[in-house]
Amino acid sequence: MRLSCERFAARLASVSLDECLGIGLQATDGRSVAGLPIVAREYPPVEARPPRGRVLLFGGIHGDELSSVSIVFKWMGILNRFHSGLFHWRIVPALNPDGLLQRPGSRMNANGVDLNRNFPCPDWLAATRDYWERRTGKNPRRYPGPAALSEPESRWLAEQIERFQPDVIVSVHAPHSVVDFDGPPHPPRKLGSLELKLLGTYPGSLGRYAGFFQEIPVVTIELESATSMPSLREQKRIWIDLVRWLKERLPEAPSSPAQTLAAPGG
Ligand SMILES: [Zn+2]
Repeated sequence: MRLSCERFAARLASVSLDECLGIGLQATDGRSVAGLPIVAREYPPVEARPPRGRVLLFGGIHGDELSSVSIVFKWMGILNRFHSGLFHWRIVPALNPDGLLQRPGSRMNANGVDLNRNFPCPDWLAATRDYWERRTGKNPRRYPGPAALSEPESRWLAEQIERFQPDVIVSVHAPHSVVDFDGPPHPPRKLGSLELKLLGTYPGSLGRYAGFFQEIPVVTIELESATSMPSLREQKRIWIDLVRWLKERLPEAPSSPAQTLAAPGG
């Protein structure tokens, strides 16, 4: 884990090596195109307290949105101190390490694919091609890839959704300064100073795949800036509001236990 933390600390002004090492990140079986590990941290149920639900939270699906990675470190720092077993969290700070570690950072992965257009939907090829060609003018920053789940990073996330069966997915982006939501109602109206604005989904996006088709609520947090962090106060307010909304959303302990985080080769 030291090597991953050295990379994060060298890339992210807001995350120090000691802070990263103190988080307790775990190796997973996820690898990027360039072979970098996709690391995670699990906050499992605590004894004698069935969690109210499972929450999958990740940042950095777009590698040039640095704040979306840094803020996840800050929230893991909060959970490291206060995890009480209320929810079972699985947290992935940087889903697209290849894009993050490029300089300048790249929205896409090392194959030039926008991972947030690479998730399956009915008639994926025609739908994503049509959108990419006609609506974006073949913008390379929106390239959906050659096939649904052609990329190891999006494939790994889809596997996590299948294995972990989250009750809620939280995806962190920047810089549109809103909260977006896909899936069954009701969305949070406001997280910190970020207000709800329903942007709709794109063919191949996670919101359409998980929110619309699998009916898992997907909260998309769009921070104000991709390169500057929100104030400390705002970082905490977003977190507190998110947890408050999760409590309303998941009022009681449900469901079957999830499989644990798979280790490399396991
Ligand atoms: Zn983004």
